Amino acid sequence: MFRSAHFKLTAWYLSIIMLITVVFSVVIYAVVSHQIEGLIHMQNDRIRRFQSRPPNEMAPPPDAPTMLRTEDLQKQEQQLLYTLIFIDLGIGIIAGGAGYFLAGRTLRPIKIMIDEQNQFISNASHELRTPIATLRAEMEGSLLEHHLSDDQARKLITSNLEELSTLQNLTDDLLKLTKVHSLHNHNQQEKLSIAEIVASAHKKVMALARQKNTLIKVSLQDAIIVGDKNSLTELFVILLDNAIKYSPNESEISVISEKTQNYIKIMVQDTGIGISETDLPHIFERFYRADKSRSQSEGYGLGLSIAKKIVENNRGIIEASSQLEKGTVFTLQLPLSSSFS
Ligand code: ADP
Repeated sequence: MFRSAHFKLTAWYLSIIMLITVVFSVVIYAVVSHQIEGLIHMQNDRIRRFQSRPPNEMAPPPDAPTMLRTEDLQKQEQQLLYTLIFIDLGIGIIAGGAGYFLAGRTLRPIKIMIDEQNQFISNASHELRTPIATLRAEMEGSLLEHHLSDDQARKLITSNLEELSTLQNLTDDLLKLTKVHSLHNHNQQEKLSIAEIVASAHKKVMALARQKNTLIKVSLQDAIIVGDKNSLTELFVILLDNAIKYSPNESEISVISEKTQNYIKIMVQDTGIGISETDLPHIFERFYRADKSRSQSEGYGLGLSIAKKIVENNRGIIEASSQLEKGTVFTLQLPLSSSFS
């Protein structure tokens, strides 16, 4: 598809350039031939006047200039025509090459976007297929049973509900991802206290932290930033949720900050399983999950790509550093509200 689009765009570029060049050449040819004709008429008139003047007896007759011939004019015009055709062909060849190159450059970002979108659709369908197939297999299996006891029916419903909640989590994540991508241009911007945002994210992960006996220590230097409250809270929920998920029971997570003149740096540190050097460069990619057997995560690898997009929407930076079996640090840099004035 892109190959034919590449050729079509090249053909368009080439046709536009050639149209301009040919029109320009025709105009040059017409103007120059008209001027040559005019000059020849002028010159011939002067010669005729010279020949018909009365002879001067005192002075010897000068050599009469020869008349300019129409064939010479035609020869000059023909030469001009060949030169113009030659130049136009040259421009055509150069424009063809340059057009092909420019068409490639124009289409490259579109191709990258479409490839990413296709990859995303294929990953999402792949993730959706497993719970749907399990649901179907379980229900079909139960239908084949002649008598379904209460106990079996309850087991089936419980298992179906688990699969449905998996599906719901995935669709929720997919919706969040689409939302943060579309939020970029009409983000609701307001002045927000970073301490309040972290506090409300902390509240949202409290249940999970309690389940794992995890201690979350927040020691922040407050700062005012500008951004969208819901998405920034979601950002800290993702980071805290991961820190709890990927740390053993009874571990400690800390949230600390550092303020510079224009930015606030916030670090979310855990002492969990860590991320290997090979996985670390990919963790912000959609659907990327580091070594699943080690992390035993039930996530879909969408959390950090959502987090990254939220940070980018707020003109910030997010980075991760990690050491296996020692822990992970996510560092965020967000611009202070004072840096906007
Ligand atoms: P998931 O839903 O799988 O957690 P994320 O996008 O949030 O997806 O994270 C991507 C991967 O990065 C995870 O599968 C996990 O392997 C790794 N990861 C993220 N946060 C941490 C962390 N705090 N400690 C260790 N590994 C982490």
